[in-house]
Order: sequence, then C-alpha cells, then structure tokens
Amino acid sequence: MGNPLNKSSMMECPTHGLRKPSFVCSHLQCGEGLGFHQPSEPHDPELPFQHAWCDEYDSILIEEGEWNDRSEGFAKIMVICEGCLDVIRKRNIRVNEKNAT
Ligand SMILES: [Zn+2]
Ligand SMILES: [Zn+2]
Repeated sequence: MGNPLNKSSMMECPTHGLRKPSFVCSHLQCGEGLGFHQPSEPHDPELPFQHAWCDEYDSILIEEGEWNDRSEGFAKIMVICEGCLDVIRKRNIRVNEKNAT
C-alpha cells in the first residue's frame, strides 16, 4: 500500500481479475439508487482512472466548490476495479437520469 498510482497501475480484483483501479465514494459501494456522478472534465492523461460519487456527495461538492478535506472526508473514497465500478453504476444510476449539464 501507499504506492503512488501511475497511468499503468493495475489492481487484482477477486471477481474481475487484473483491472484498472477506479474510485468511488463509500456510499455507492454498498448502496443502491443513490445516483451516479462522474467528473465532467476529461481524465488527466497521467491518471486515467474513473471516479464516481453519489447525489449527496455531489451536493457537498457543489457547496464546497472543489475536492478538499471536508468533501473527501465525507466521501471516504474507496478503490475498486473498473468491473466493479460498472456493477455499482448499474445499481446506483437512476433510470430517468440524463447526463445533462
Ligand atoms: Zn457518497
Ligand atoms: Zn472487480
């Protein structure tokens, strides 16, 4: 643990095998129907990992205006594999939710 990520970082998932890591808030990891938000800006090419968070965290993010200690403390970001992220997305995304910004 504690190794800095680089763009070729991989992780071993017990379900999906060797995959890229991605980051979700802890609520999404065990919740369902919480909403699913991802960054609107393109990924940093040096850190091409997916991030996702729930509705509640999204409103904190809007309030705080940025990722900071408070928002990160709330989110309790977890590292999971991309395959697991896909499962979480399907479980949390709202049917009527459009990616309209
Ligand atoms: Zn959350
Ligand atoms: Zn997985």
